[in-house]
Amino acid sequence: MHCHLNFKAFSNDYDEVIKRAADAGVTTIINVGTKIDSSQKAVELAQKYDNLYAIVGVHPHHADKVELGSDWLSQIERLAKQPKVVAIGEIGLDNYRYQSNGITDPKAQQELFEAQIMLAHKLKLPLQIHNRHAGKQILEILTHHKNELLNPPGMFHCFAGNIDILQSALRMGFYIGFDGNITYPGLAPGEDTSLPNLVKATPLDRIVIETDSPYLTPTPHRGSRNEPQYAILVGKAIAQIKAVKLNQVDNQTTENVRTLFNL
Ligand SMILES: [Zn+2]
Ligand SMILES: [Zn+2]
Repeated sequence: MHCHLNFKAFSNDYDEVIKRAADAGVTTIINVGTKIDSSQKAVELAQKYDNLYAIVGVHPHHADKVELGSDWLSQIERLAKQPKVVAIGEIGLDNYRYQSNGITDPKAQQELFEAQIMLAHKLKLPLQIHNRHAGKQILEILTHHKNELLNPPGMFHCFAGNIDILQSALRMGFYIGFDGNITYPGLAPGEDTSLPNLVKATPLDRIVIETDSPYLTPTPHRGSRNEPQYAILVGKAIAQIKAVKLNQVDNQTTENVRTLFNL
């Protein structure tokens, strides 16, 4: 289950947050890096707690080479070789115009993405893909690298897009992560397919439950900091959308995570 307890939002109380998640029945927590320092922190947390794992990588937001430093790839490689690192991520492309930083240089994003696909290939780790308004382009790059992908190749985290992109990702063998935003009404800016419709179109044996905490807090806690314990609300929403029992969602998505990340 994808979250960022390695981020500043949790620097004062991650111990309690991890305990609350365990009390709520969340068995496995995967902290995901978005640059060098948060990847390092994710690795440290995985070493400290039995049920925590780490994913390391550089997010397309941080594709600025000057900020990253010239040895970023060897630093990620060093971290990726640590115990309990289960994938390379968040990697991908982001074409959304954020108020704070606009769009990061598309060429730098693509270079970073491809370098990390090659690293994952070298280390035999699956990918965790971040996609925002770049699904078609990401699929093109993945197709170009199809001989360097594992089976299963990885997952799209916090999925959004349309049915075509979803079906192509499924055909390539990817798992699909859904987060608390599936409980939000209406469409996100720039999207044309509702998240519940995408959930409906994804077979349960390919779904992974995520939180993306501290972000994307599910209803009714929307507006406050998201915690891994709320993963259960994402599971409930999926059960409702698919009209199946919650424990079926629970069991299947837990098995999916084990298969995907080799736990
Ligand atoms: Zn992301
Ligand atoms: Zn995330």
